[in-house]
Amino acid sequence: AKAQGRARYHVFDPVMYQEAIQLLELENDLRRAVERQEFIVYYQPIISLATGNISGFEALVRWQHPIRGLVCPVDFIPVAEETGLINVINIWVLHTACHQLSIWQQHPATPKNLTISVNLSARLFSQPDFIAKIDQIIDETKINPANLELEITESVIMENTNGIKTILQQLKQRNIKLIMDDFGTGYSSLSYLYSFPLNALKIDKSFVKRMQENQENMGLVPAMIGIADSMGMTAIAEGVETKEQLAQLRSLNCNFAQGYLFSRPLEQQLVLKLLAAAPQW
Ligand code: C2E
Ligand code: CA
Ligand code: CA
Ligand code: CA
Repeated sequence: AKAQGRARYHVFDPVMYQEAIQLLELENDLRRAVERQEFIVYYQPIISLATGNISGFEALVRWQHPIRGLVCPVDFIPVAEETGLINVINIWVLHTACHQLSIWQQHPATPKNLTISVNLSARLFSQPDFIAKIDQIIDETKINPANLELEITESVIMENTNGIKTILQQLKQRNIKLIMDDFGTGYSSLSYLYSFPLNALKIDKSFVKRMQENQENMGLVPAMIGIADSMGMTAIAEGVETKEQLAQLRSLNCNFAQGYLFSRPLEQQLVLKLLAAAPQW
């Protein structure tokens, strides 16, 4: 069996070879993109269901590729994670988003406590100067840290068990808000999650989608909102696409919602226009 395994290893597999080449090309392309600053941040509004007003925006990165056009995160974040390039990209997104917030705040149409949410890769948490970088960004952009929300997934907690609590506590001390993203899709136990200083649970869009297929009991969403509530956290629903979903989430006292029903992620210039129009849902 061993000899067979070795033999198989030496067989030339054109598909695997093609994939390896493509991966290498993507990696090189991504390195160039970092040098040439080919990234752009889009912003998607988050709506307070109590008031119907925009309460903040989530920053979502895209890659403006010279040939391929606008590349979505699913097509480059995994490679960026693997190569470690995600660290420099993610810090750039964080800085850009905070800078953008400070600019929007100078505009009269902007709500006073507008928040900005930024997704953080698990890898950032093992970067020794991560907190120093955050402090530097807050210092430079002069935003109120209470208006900054950091979205982490369960992988952040699972991959950085050592020291992660200390880092999250340091963020909390700065009054930065912490959101558990993609809630319900990971494997960590609730009692474990409860031991971290989280402010909000963001219910993954797959659960919001299933709410409609399950009209009578609305699937797991009511339970998830209940969990957030009993842990003293707010609940945010993502992927809201229909009026029915919005009405259901309101009836369940979900705190915030986000999705195509309200707006797709927007380029920076369109954000001020949206704020000036002051839509209410
Ligand atoms: P996520 O944090 O779960 O972001 C939500 C994704 O759902 C976004 O995809 C958003 O455009 C999309 N979305 C928003 N509303 C709807 C809706 O109503 N229906 C549906 N079907 N989708 C909706 P996007 O922008 O392609 O981002 C994908 C993922 O890439 C994000 O998932 C996040 O995990 C990651 N990502 C994006 N920007 C960054 C970043 O700056 N840093 C890191 N580390 N990850 C990022
Ligand atoms: Ca997110
Ligand atoms: Ca999410
Ligand atoms: Ca997701």
